[in-house]
Amino acid sequence: ELPNRTRERLIQRLGENGISNTAVLERIRSVPRHLFVDEALASRAYEDTALPIGQGQTISQPWVVALMTQAVLPPGNGGGVPPLGKVLEVGTGCGYQTAVLSPFARTVFTIERLAGLQRAARTRLNELGFGNIRYRHGDGFQGWPGQAPFDAILVAAAPADVPEALLEQLAPGGRLVIPVGPAGQQELLRVTRTPDGLQRELLSQVSFVPLVEGMG
Ligand code: SAH
Repeated sequence: ELPNRTRERLIQRLGENGISNTAVLERIRSVPRHLFVDEALASRAYEDTALPIGQGQTISQPWVVALMTQAVLPPGNGGGVPPLGKVLEVGTGCGYQTAVLSPFARTVFTIERLAGLQRAARTRLNELGFGNIRYRHGDGFQGWPGQAPFDAILVAAAPADVPEALLEQLAPGGRLVIPVGPAGQQELLRVTRTPDGLQRELLSQVSFVPLVEGMG
C-alpha cells in the first residue's frame, strides 16, 4: 500500500478523534514519522499506535502527540509567528514530538534522562535540519531552571503527581500538559497559570511510560 494513503488515513482518524486544530493536523501530515523508528517498524509508522524505540521506551502514539500539541497552543494559535516562545519538553525519546512542536515555538528545550536516546534524537533532528532545538541530558523532574519561565511545558512520561519544579517554571498564561498517575489509570492534565492561580483541566485518559527520577 502507498505510504501516502496510510498517512492520509491517520490524519482523517485524528480529525475524527478530537484533533480539530488544522495547523496541528497539517504538521502531523508533514513530519516523516517513519524516520523516527527502526527500519523494521517503518511500515507501521503511520498507524495510530505507540512503537518501541529501544531501552524499554516508546515513540508516543500520533493521537497523543497531536492532542498534547493542540493543548499547549493558545486558542486560534494566538496569531503569533511562532505562536509560542520558549517551550520545554520532558522525555525527548526519539524526538518525534520535538519535531512536531518545533515550528510552533521560537525555541524548544528538550530533556531526556537516557543518554543513548538523547544522542540519537539529537543526531536525527540535526540531520533533518531542525535549528531551534536545545538538548539536555538530565532529569525532567527538575525542569530547566536556567531557561525558565516557559510558555508551554509538555511531559511525555507519567509521574505520580505534577512535579512542583515544573509548575514553578510556567510563565504567566503558560500551559503545562502532563500525564499523571500509575500505569493503567493515567490522566492527561492541562495546568494553566492564570491571574487567579493554577487552573487544572482533565483532557483524557492516557497510557504513558513512567517518569523516572534521576539520569540513566
Ligand atoms: N515524545 C517521545 C516519547 C518518548 S517516551 C517520543 O515520541 O519519542 C518517554 C521518554 O521519557 C523516554 O525516552 C524516557 O527515557 C523519558 N524519561 C522518563 N523519565 C524521565 C525524566 N525524569 N527526565 C527526562 N526524561 C525522562
